[in-house]
Amino acid sequence: MAKIKIDLSGKVAKPQVVVGIDLGTTNSLVAWVNPSTGNAEVIADELGALVPSVIGLMPGGSAQVGVLAKGGLVTAPERTIFSVKRLLGRSYKDIADFQRYLGYRIIDEDNESMVKIEVDGKYYNPIELSAIILKALKEKAERALNVEVVQAVVTVPAYFNDAQRQATRDAGKLAGLEILRIVNEPTAASLSYGLGLNREEVETVLVYDLGGGTFDVSILQIEDGVFDVLATKGDTALGGDDIDRSVMSMWQQAYPALNQVVLAGDIQRLRLVAEAAKIALSGNPTETFTHDFALGDGLSVLLSLDYTGLQAAAKELLLKTENCIAAALRDASLKPSQIQAVVMVGGSTRYPQVKALLEEKFPHVAVNNTLNPDEVVALGAAIEADVLAGNRKDILLLDVTPLSLGIETAGGLMDVLIPRNNKIPCRVGREYTTSVDGQVNLKISVFQGERELVAQNRKLGEFILKDIPAMPAGFPKIEVAFALDADGLLKVSAKELRSGVTQQIDIKPQYGLTDEQVEAMLMAGFQHAQEDVTARLHQEAINEGHQLVYLAKRFIEKNANLLNEDEMEGTKQRISALECLLAERGEKDAILQAVTALNDYTRPFAERLMDVAVSAALKGKEI
Ligand code: AMP
Repeated sequence: MAKIKIDLSGKVAKPQVVVGIDLGTTNSLVAWVNPSTGNAEVIADELGALVPSVIGLMPGGSAQVGVLAKGGLVTAPERTIFSVKRLLGRSYKDIADFQRYLGYRIIDEDNESMVKIEVDGKYYNPIELSAIILKALKEKAERALNVEVVQAVVTVPAYFNDAQRQATRDAGKLAGLEILRIVNEPTAASLSYGLGLNREEVETVLVYDLGGGTFDVSILQIEDGVFDVLATKGDTALGGDDIDRSVMSMWQQAYPALNQVVLAGDIQRLRLVAEAAKIALSGNPTETFTHDFALGDGLSVLLSLDYTGLQAAAKELLLKTENCIAAALRDASLKPSQIQAVVMVGGSTRYPQVKALLEEKFPHVAVNNTLNPDEVVALGAAIEADVLAGNRKDILLLDVTPLSLGIETAGGLMDVLIPRNNKIPCRVGREYTTSVDGQVNLKISVFQGERELVAQNRKLGEFILKDIPAMPAGFPKIEVAFALDADGLLKVSAKELRSGVTQQIDIKPQYGLTDEQVEAMLMAGFQHAQEDVTARLHQEAINEGHQLVYLAKRFIEKNANLLNEDEMEGTKQRISALECLLAERGEKDAILQAVTALNDYTRPFAERLMDVAVSAALKGKEI
């Protein structure tokens, strides 16, 4: 439901709505949940709903977006920016291969920072350019709905890394939007079909997204409102355009007269006819497409294509997507029969063989294709926006943290406070203490990763809890708390509960980590699980040994009068035997044996100390 904002003058301001935005490579869309119907709807104006993700940077410095800018792709390619999503959060090195497809100029600064685009001697970065598109979408929604739009949910591909997600967020800010959440495109597509709304069931969903120039397949596990991406595979240079190219080359072979068109550089016209043939046959597979293609000088050639021809042209593309599906299933360790729902996204899924392929691979499930495949991502984003606006209480959409978060404890061990796949936002607190008498400072080092020893994990930051009042070892009660918010921002605080001394830091755990690095860290955790447990048990034995040596030394120092000479000697011998083993990091079992030997030997002395203390206490009592 739209919120009414009252400004200070008492006037009723425009109502505000939270929108969902699909910021696409080729086309973008903005959608909302219409409060009068409760349904997600794309927002259209006189130019329709789809906004081509094209920006015309005009000589005066102004910008045109969408349909109006599209003509510039042919007439002014040097100032017409398209595919900016492919540049977002990427360095020149990342996109060097791709540059030859762009008509505009990209600057090579020979460094790792984000690429820049030069038009008329002015430099633009992909964040600013994406912001221009987002602003156009914001204004389109404001005009169409006569509302104010200041908050949005924006979708990104599941494979976007942290830098790309952050860049998308920054673009939103620049466009005057508060980005409530960045959502994965396959998650949004699933939501638009209502998948994951039944909180009782665990669902495994495959999302097949075939656009004009990109292909992605993602496998999601939806459980209790959490959409976990189990696997994602794809190809950023695969899509419906390949079918068009393949139809063109079939025609060039069949009609040699076409070669003069190709030589004359009139290939774009031929490409559009090939695309029209594909779209026509997708709608009417039983018909034959024909087109009288003008060659100039009054000559023409009658091009024709039937559905069998289209199938031949699209065969390789479909095979490649099939291989990606198989690879994604392998990555997720799933069999096709374990997929419980399939969702189709992207304009090219209108080609009937796509559905046929998915039905053949997953005969046990109904393929979700009833919604417009161009709109499903935006519609899902609108649903998420509606939930985050607080308008729907029946759905709870949560994110999860991809890697475990914890602190370093004695001997370099990782003590996990928030395990991986934990839902966020969340808060976890745990109590620690000191290991040395009179310890007044305690260093808290925060790590991320799946290994048992912090040395093999990623350090996120550290701070020192200072001015703890001097107390015997084990006496201070130090609560370390991790609070991870919905944006993945981690606040770590430490508080000595007896004195109230507190210290805190803020950390961004995912900053600078690519998806590949997250994956590599997870894999390392699995691969080294056995040796890590052995290393942890060894380190725990060493820690126990150090603690016992410390306590035993303190005991004989303070209570020398309780022990005779032999006992003192026997204790010292056992202490130094244990110390030797600790110094050379001896084997775990040897250390534990030495610990037991020292413990057993000194136990009677400890009992003696208790007796003395008790009798002293009794003596002091007056009857
Ligand atoms: P998208 O990138 O999701 O907008 O998808 C664009 C691609 O979908 C282009 O390659 C279009 O040619 C293709 N496409 C659009 N409509 C159809 C259709 N009815 N049948 C087959 N392909 C289509």
